[in-house]
Amino acid sequence: MQNHYRYIIQGAGASGLWLAHSLNEAGLLAFDQLLIVEGEANKVNDRTWCFWSTEEEQKFSFIDTRWSSLNIQGERQSISPYQYSHARSHAFYSWVRESLAKNSNIHWLNDWVEDVSDVGDGVNVQTKKGLYFADYFFGSGQWKTKVKGNDITLWQSFVGWRIRLINQTWDAQSATLMDFSIPQSDTTRFLYVLPLSESEGLIEATQFHAERLPKEEGEFILRQICTQRGWDIEIVEVECDAIPMSPLFNQNQSHHDSNARIIEIGIAAGALKPTTGYGFLTMRNHANQIAEALKTGNVLPKIYRKRRFRFYDALLLQMLQENPHRGKAIFERLFQRQPAQLVLKFLDEKTSIWEEIRIFSQLQVPWFLKAVIHYAKH
Ligand SMILES: Cc1cc2nc3c(=O)[nH]c(=O)nc-3n(C[C@H](O)[C@H](O)[C@H](O)COP(=O)(O)OP(=O)(O)OC[C@H]3O[C@@H](n4cnc5c(N)ncnc54)[C@H](O)[C@@H]3O)c2cc1C
Repeated sequence: MQNHYRYIIQGAGASGLWLAHSLNEAGLLAFDQLLIVEGEANKVNDRTWCFWSTEEEQKFSFIDTRWSSLNIQGERQSISPYQYSHARSHAFYSWVRESLAKNSNIHWLNDWVEDVSDVGDGVNVQTKKGLYFADYFFGSGQWKTKVKGNDITLWQSFVGWRIRLINQTWDAQSATLMDFSIPQSDTTRFLYVLPLSESEGLIEATQFHAERLPKEEGEFILRQICTQRGWDIEIVEVECDAIPMSPLFNQNQSHHDSNARIIEIGIAAGALKPTTGYGFLTMRNHANQIAEALKTGNVLPKIYRKRRFRFYDALLLQMLQENPHRGKAIFERLFQRQPAQLVLKFLDEKTSIWEEIRIFSQLQVPWFLKAVIHYAKH
C-alpha cells in the first residue's frame, strides 16, 4: 500500500527524536520504514536541556558542558559520581539527524498531523496534506490538547538569558541549580546560573506557580541579578516557556494493552517529573524500552513511576498550590540537610524507602503531615 510505514512518529522534538534514534540503533529500521512528521518548518535552538547522570549518558557528543560540582547555598559541593550536563536543542537535533542520515528507510515530512485513528490492523494518520498508514503510531507534542480548564494547577515557567560577560570572567567550574536568593513574591522562585565558559553562560529565572511568569517580570529579575552581581552583559539569546507541573500525565499501568498501536511519548506520556520538570533522560529510557519491546515482541512499556514517588510529588504539588511560597523553605532545607548526591538520587526516584524516611524526617514534618491528611481526605 502507498504511504504505508511500519512506524510513524509525530514530532521531531526530544521524545520523537530519541525514539527514532533508538529504533535505528536497535536495527528495527534495517528493512522497515519510518516516517517522522514534524509540523514546524524550521526547528531551531528552541530550548536547552540539562540533566544529571552517571557514566553512560555523559559521553553524548551533543553535550557542550559538564559540571562535576554544584553551588549549593553558597558552597561548592561535589556531585560525584554524577555530572550535571548541558546541551542545546539544536545540537541534539543535529546529532540525531546525522545518526539517521545514512538510513534510507527513514523519511521526513514537514506537515501537521490532524487526526489519528486505530483501524484494527493499524493506524490511519491524517495530516493536513495527506493520509498515511502505520502499523504503530507514536505521538508527541499533543499534551496541550489534553488539558482542560483547571487541569494544570501549577506551571514551571522559565525566563532565561544566554549572556556574554563584557570584560569580565566568572567561575566556570560549577553550576548553580536552585538559588532562592531572589524575591519570592508569594511564589516559589529560583535562579539557575550555568556558566558555559569563563565569560558566557545561561541565567534563568524559574517559577513554580498557578500563573505563568510573564516574560517582562522574568527579565526584570534577571536584570536585577546582573546589577547586584556587577555583571556587565550582552544578551545573546532569550528562552521563555512553561511546562505543566501536574499528576495529569502520570501512568497507572506499566504497559500498554497488547493490541495498542497508538502510543504516546514525551510529556503527554508522563515523561516529566511533575515536581522538577526534568524528563530528557526519561524520554531516552522510554525510547530504548519501546525499541527493545518491539524487537522482542513484548508489550510496549509506559513511563511508569512507582506509586510512592507519585504520592510524594502529589504532596509537594498540593503544598505549593496552597502555600506557593513554601518551596523555598522546603528545597533549601532538602539541600542543606542531605548530601547533593542523595537529593539527586531521590529526584531520580532511585532511593530506598529508608533513604526516603531519612530525607522526610529532616524536612518540615508538620507541613507534610498536614498535606498527607488533606491527601487522604480527597
Ligand atoms: C524552555 C524549556 C526548557 C526545558 N529544559 C529542560 C531541561 O533542562 N531538562 C529536562 O529534562 N527537561 C527540560 N524541559 C522539559 C522537556 O524535556 C521538554 O519540554 C521536551 O522538549 C519535551 O519533549 P516532547 O518530545 O514531549 O515535546 P517537544 O520537544 O516539544 O516535541 C514535540 C514536537 O512535536 C511537534 N508537533 C506537535 N504537534 C504536532 C502535530 N500535530 N503534527 C506534527 N508535529 C507536531 C512540535 O512541533 C514539536 O517539535 C524543558 C522544557 C522547556 C519548555
